[in-house]
Amino acid sequence: MADPILRLSQLSKRFGQFVAVKDIDLAIDEGEFFTIVGPSGSGKTTLIRMLAGLEEPSGGEILLRGQRINETPANRRPTCMVFQSLALFPHRSVGQNIEFPLKMRGVPPMQRRERADELLRLLRLPEDYYGKQVSQCSGGERQRIALARALAFDPEILFFDEPLSAIDFRLRKTLEKELKDLHRETGKTFIYITHSLEEAMVMSDRIGIMRAGELVQVGAPDEIYSRPANRFVSEFMGEVNVLEVKPNGAGLHCPALGATLQGPSDPGGQSDFAGGYLVIRPEYLRFLGPGETAENQVEGVLYNEYALGSRIQYQVRVGEAVFLVEKLREQRYEGQLDDRVVIGWEARDSVLAPE
Ligand code: ATP
Repeated sequence: MADPILRLSQLSKRFGQFVAVKDIDLAIDEGEFFTIVGPSGSGKTTLIRMLAGLEEPSGGEILLRGQRINETPANRRPTCMVFQSLALFPHRSVGQNIEFPLKMRGVPPMQRRERADELLRLLRLPEDYYGKQVSQCSGGERQRIALARALAFDPEILFFDEPLSAIDFRLRKTLEKELKDLHRETGKTFIYITHSLEEAMVMSDRIGIMRAGELVQVGAPDEIYSRPANRFVSEFMGEVNVLEVKPNGAGLHCPALGATLQGPSDPGGQSDFAGGYLVIRPEYLRFLGPGETAENQVEGVLYNEYALGSRIQYQVRVGEAVFLVEKLREQRYEGQLDDRVVIGWEARDSVLAPE
């Protein structure tokens, strides 16, 4: 395996007494799409700003191909940042925006134009957009222009600071895929931050989850999905069913249900699980008809249903506990609100998470 392009060792940032980033150790491989996910205030921006050279670390080291770059200013690092605001010049043409970094480096006009045309093609923007004013472009087009301009620097690493957060849902979904395609086409290292684990899942090779300045889990999307390191990570994955449990001789005792449940026989990294949470995704729950059984089953009342595009989500109340069940429209529950229903799931479809 080649050496990582970036290695962070005990990297920290303090603002006065406040520790915004705490002792981060991480290696990012060349060509990787690495996403840092965390709630607001968890330190994502501070971390990425240190990597880009916009903020000086208070402690630890940043190594670029083995060389310490803590003190290297942003403009002398082979990296470029795409901001949420995009920071385009609205009253200049698309071409002028894309060529800006090349102009700053003294690249002659002919070569700049060639590179701009190449980037327009790469970002699937019409060639005649070269002369169009940025203020006349749509949100999605501006996004692509900002990407083209970042690539014009020909950086080795591209940093993205929530570039899609202000964009509406449908377009964002399209751009997420385009960004992943662009990553493939350019082969560059992408380091991306977002507060949406869902967005991270679509694009990333690996994801690092941040909480209060620390990395609480690093792994491939599948790993994070199926083996969340703790409750915080599992709840970050969106709407999931989380039950507090403690092992007893027969399985996992769940006080909220007053029942013993069966957990996964492959406990992931949790072979010494001493108590914590059983996590079940809503799509793994099903309504059980007469005569149907599941390894875990509970009886409750269908409280409400919500249409989610191709799927329907149901809220089932079991005593004090609330379960979310999700079904494709074709598998919808045929019945009425306030029906007594039995829902169930297989032990292998649940995961254990310690606190
Ligand atoms: P968001 O998703 O809201 O952008 P974030 O995860 O990117 O959040 P940061 O912007 O890195 O979080 O901020 C982490 C913490 O550090 C916050 O509590 C913030 O108030 C604090 N912080 C950031 N910059 C400074 C600064 N220059 N001076 C003092 N505190 C700061």
